[in-house]
Amino acid sequence: MNLPVSLQSLQDYDPERVQNALHLLLEPLGGIGHYVKPGQNVLIKPNLLAGKAPEKAVTTHPEIVRQVILLVQSAGGNVSVGDSPGLGKPESVARKCGILDVVEETGVRFAPFEESVPISLEAGTFHHLEVAREALETDVIINLPKLKTHQMMGYTGAVKNLFGLVVGMRKVRLHLQAGTDKAFFALMLLELSERFKPVLSIMDAVVGMEGNGPGNGDPIQLGALLASSHPVALDTVATSMVGLAEKNVWTQKIARETGRQGVSLKELKLHGVPLASLQTSRFRPAKNSDINFGLPIPVKNLLKNAITAQPEITRACQRCGHCVTHCPPEAMTLDPTKAGALASQGVRIDYGRCIRCFCCQELCPHGAITTRQGILLRLSDFISGHKSK
Ligand code: SF4
Ligand code: SF4
Repeated sequence: MNLPVSLQSLQDYDPERVQNALHLLLEPLGGIGHYVKPGQNVLIKPNLLAGKAPEKAVTTHPEIVRQVILLVQSAGGNVSVGDSPGLGKPESVARKCGILDVVEETGVRFAPFEESVPISLEAGTFHHLEVAREALETDVIINLPKLKTHQMMGYTGAVKNLFGLVVGMRKVRLHLQAGTDKAFFALMLLELSERFKPVLSIMDAVVGMEGNGPGNGDPIQLGALLASSHPVALDTVATSMVGLAEKNVWTQKIARETGRQGVSLKELKLHGVPLASLQTSRFRPAKNSDINFGLPIPVKNLLKNAITAQPEITRACQRCGHCVTHCPPEAMTLDPTKAGALASQGVRIDYGRCIRCFCCQELCPHGAITTRQGILLRLSDFISGHKSK
């Protein structure tokens, strides 16, 4: 099977250039009319992780959202734009990252994910999930991920962006259910992306995020726009573009181990500009966060501090308490008696309880959480030559 993936070069978010690039991107895939029929309700799902300015590269750039809205409208679709941010009220997050302005200017509906509906995934990893009503009631979903690193999963792109269909704190419960088992969590993400398969994913890789992603990494110019109707295939091309090894991208690794399609470039039919023209060797991955060569879970738990990376509070901490509120196993505490001390001394982490989900790092609005690798993990990375800096 040749799963189609389209690639275009795009160096900035100038409206006209975004419009032209989108046109060229979708042309070989059949154009927007192939995916959206007149009168259909279309849910556009950007990455709305946190209320940061577009140039921070935390969220999908508003100009990409605008031009996709206009395209869908031109095909006769009724557009809603929605997501469930990791932290903060959806309206306020969408305002700060420029997407609410675009929604208002184009006259479409803002559809924050607030109401959850239980669904069952037959034979799924998580038998019962609760997802946003908006996702269940729309005719089609268009997924607009941002290319970023992810401390827990290695990378966030087309598959991981759909985790936003799980509303608010229910995400925390799923993290808790998966515990330290990344394979289990990755499988749930894959199953979610299959149950709510977007008709089309268009990835904003004009400026991506490297390093300490997905919330506090560094923007990096990548100059690309990618599209496919197959999220795993799109992630295969995106991760190849930035040189991330499959073994370090959990959704890709588990997709291969479970026999899913689209993990190998040879299964894909690439359109548009050559992949080689977009590939870069200067992309900095997230720090490797555990030794993943198949140790049994009980052994991993026993050696947890030595073989994993752990979150560490830095002096940038403002003691806002967001990390404490959102830590799935309640492994963090804010110590009120430390009010006059170093801010970082006021937040404590119980590393025995910590499941290494890195939600705290992802959500910290001040970029005050870094990761420190355990001694065996550092040694393993040294021997294998894993790039983390
Ligand atoms: S680490 Fe970040 S989220 Fe946690 S209390 Fe400090 S500033 Fe707030
Ligand atoms: S301390 Fe951070 S990494 Fe550990 S469980 Fe809590 S949120 Fe997850």
